[in-house]
Amino acid sequence: MYDPKSLKAEEFISHEEILDTLAYADENKNNIELIDSIIEKAKFRKGLSHREASVLLVCQNEEKNNEIYALAEQIKKEFYGNRIVMFAPLYLSNYCVNGCVYCPYHAKNKHIARKKLTQEEVRKEVIALQDMGHKRLAIESGEDPVNNPIEYILECINTIYSIKHKNGAIRRVNVNIAATTVENYRKLKEAGIGTYILFQETYHKESYEQLHPTGPKHNYAYHTEAMDRAMEGGIDDVGLGVLFGLEKYRYEFAGLLMHAEHLEAVHGVGPHTISVPRIRPADDIDPADFTDAIDDDIFAKLVACIRIAVPYTGMIVSTRESQKTRERVLHLGISQISGGSKTSVGGYYEPEEDNSAQFDVEDNRTLDEVVNWLMKMGYIPSFCTACYREGRTGDRFMSLCKSGQIQNCCHPNALMTLKEYLEDYASDDTKKIGEELIAKEVENIPNEKVKAIVIDYLNNIHKGKRDFRF
Ligand code: SF4
Ligand code: SF4
Repeated sequence: MYDPKSLKAEEFISHEEILDTLAYADENKNNIELIDSIIEKAKFRKGLSHREASVLLVCQNEEKNNEIYALAEQIKKEFYGNRIVMFAPLYLSNYCVNGCVYCPYHAKNKHIARKKLTQEEVRKEVIALQDMGHKRLAIESGEDPVNNPIEYILECINTIYSIKHKNGAIRRVNVNIAATTVENYRKLKEAGIGTYILFQETYHKESYEQLHPTGPKHNYAYHTEAMDRAMEGGIDDVGLGVLFGLEKYRYEFAGLLMHAEHLEAVHGVGPHTISVPRIRPADDIDPADFTDAIDDDIFAKLVACIRIAVPYTGMIVSTRESQKTRERVLHLGISQISGGSKTSVGGYYEPEEDNSAQFDVEDNRTLDEVVNWLMKMGYIPSFCTACYREGRTGDRFMSLCKSGQIQNCCHPNALMTLKEYLEDYASDDTKKIGEELIAKEVENIPNEKVKAIVIDYLNNIHKGKRDFRF
């Protein structure tokens, strides 16, 4: 029985409800009256239910699709302006006891190089990341209670936060590790993590069990209920995602939104972010083996429909995607991207010569090139981590978003953190473009008092001071 308030995976992600939703969407895909009413509802910026959003996703009418894209773009602009938050993944260990068939770290892969960073190596990686200009990381690790126990992860987080190299600092560590216990989530919270990220991979239970034939991750309910345990452990920013290509995308889309509705219904706060990875080639992984892979048009439609359905949730796209694809989806709803990423263990401080990468990166540009490219398109690359550091997490963060006040924080913070980047790490060309962008964007701060403070802070950053924020 479908119940968004239930704490049982199979009740809040009900297979029957998803099938009914898909049937309802199919029945109504040419029902222009209904589609119009859903688009009208979405214009209130309060989101859509999984059923409503599923109708928009399947709609084939070109005129209505153009309205959907235009609305997604408008919502993106209103909530996130022209800012794009930057981050990088940091792989700690690729030891893993699971058997995920789409990931080269699966336990049976005997020819991949297995690595686990020592604290000294973590230090080297973090210095390399700081020297690129990163302030926000997502740490990644395989699941292995012997090699990567929670104590190891906590020690790494501690090391990461402690490193202050030149003007560098990692100010927010998001964590992407396997589903764990409430007690371990509490420890992560105490270690000062930002978002806890866990991709569902697929919401389809039967497929999930086949795709995860061995290891603790095989347990669908334990994995699907992880966010509830994370919230019980005090983590109130959680990041959802599915790996598109493992199952039918419409099924995943409905499941993803039902998961978001469940978190809102039970904990009063929806997901902080949603990631939209697509399956990529890797060591012994060939995407051609996965028949549900989605093309670029469907990918763009998914991004637009998620943007409309959950306006307050940040959306992340990684370097799995090409420059061209990233460019296409940025204005449709993406608010966060990675840049200069290495997807192998130890890949930042030494060249990736071994085969320890989790997937092949499609966008291989440096962070400076990505920042430069974003600014040329009129975006403001932001290294802001202010909310988390000011304690604006969970429902406090959401109420900030919902009150519209976010514009008064994000825009100035983006400009100030970009200024830090330009002063400390940018190439000459990037610096020139960035200074011009900042000068122009300062004028877009409506509140004169805030504008004066920002100008003062920017001058101070130029003089060598760091870490101003609203
Ligand atoms: S996806 Fe994660 S849990 Fe699965 S094999 Fe890869 S690292 Fe291990
Ligand atoms: S002020 Fe908060 S919401 Fe805005 S960019 Fe910074 S961390 Fe994100």
